[in-house]
Amino acid sequence: MPKYIGIDTGGTLTKIAYLSADDELQLLAFPSNDLAAVKEWICQNTKVNAIDAIGATGGRTEQLRSVLEDIRSIHYIVEFEATLKGVRYLLQKEQKDIEDAIITNVGTGTSIHYMSNEQHIRVGGTGVGGGTLIGLAALTTGIANYEEINMLANRGKRHEIDLLVKDIYQGMDTPISGDLTASNFGKVGIVEQTDFQKEDILATVQGLVGEVISTLSIQYAEQNNTPNVVYIGSTLSDNDHLKYVMAHYTELKKHTPIFLDDHGYAGAVGALLNMIEEYEQAIASV
Ligand code: ADP
Ligand code: MG
Repeated sequence: MPKYIGIDTGGTLTKIAYLSADDELQLLAFPSNDLAAVKEWICQNTKVNAIDAIGATGGRTEQLRSVLEDIRSIHYIVEFEATLKGVRYLLQKEQKDIEDAIITNVGTGTSIHYMSNEQHIRVGGTGVGGGTLIGLAALTTGIANYEEINMLANRGKRHEIDLLVKDIYQGMDTPISGDLTASNFGKVGIVEQTDFQKEDILATVQGLVGEVISTLSIQYAEQNNTPNVVYIGSTLSDNDHLKYVMAHYTELKKHTPIFLDDHGYAGAVGALLNMIEEYEQAIASV
């Protein structure tokens, strides 16, 4: 039974991290609109009284707190602190040794940070994120299921819908890489065709989301003089096509994309680590 757990209650998903008896990191997620299920998991799997404390982070923590009202010891940590703590830990665990990076958290929306050895700051963000992906997918194809969107997008093609730089500069030298997108969805209005396969529409929606996020991340990387962009957030889960879009675009713009295996759990892991540190310190000072 875990002594501590970290919970990141996000706009879409609630992520939980804890250590098993042999100190292995355990991770799981629930939909944030079913916090009763989170409570049930805590009650069934942790024998509430065996938990010394819950470290909590994320924008829906107050909602979680009201659902868990009868469970003691919930310690809040600010989301950006928790996320960066988790990222540093996961980078080390996965032996990705970097000095500095832009950290781009693609959650329901997207939050962007700069991290160096000594510090981290939030540099910006965009409302374009995983929620946008599901929302646009649902409105354009009627499909709102995350796994189904990914499965179909993986099979889709973008070249009949997106307008590339080389499509405009036909037969001429292009002023920037011809493979960059000149206009996401831009061919539709030019060729006046609207009957596309769902697979192609979904791949193009992912292209739009991935490229907006990568473009912004790279601008912050340039401003902060770092070559690295670490992409995290559950929007990357089982989403090879989106990861490909982001990796490809980041490389086209001469930066290094980095993905973490446990990309969705940085906040929950950070909340867990914070809890452990606080308690160990408290015990040490007694
Ligand atoms: P937040 O912290 O805002 O909840 P996450 O990092 O958990 O954000 O990412 C949420 C996004 O992850 C969703 O918008 C969706 O694109 C994607 N996602 C991954 N797995 C699922 C799932 N099982 N159900 C719904 N969305 C999912
Ligand atoms: Mg989040």
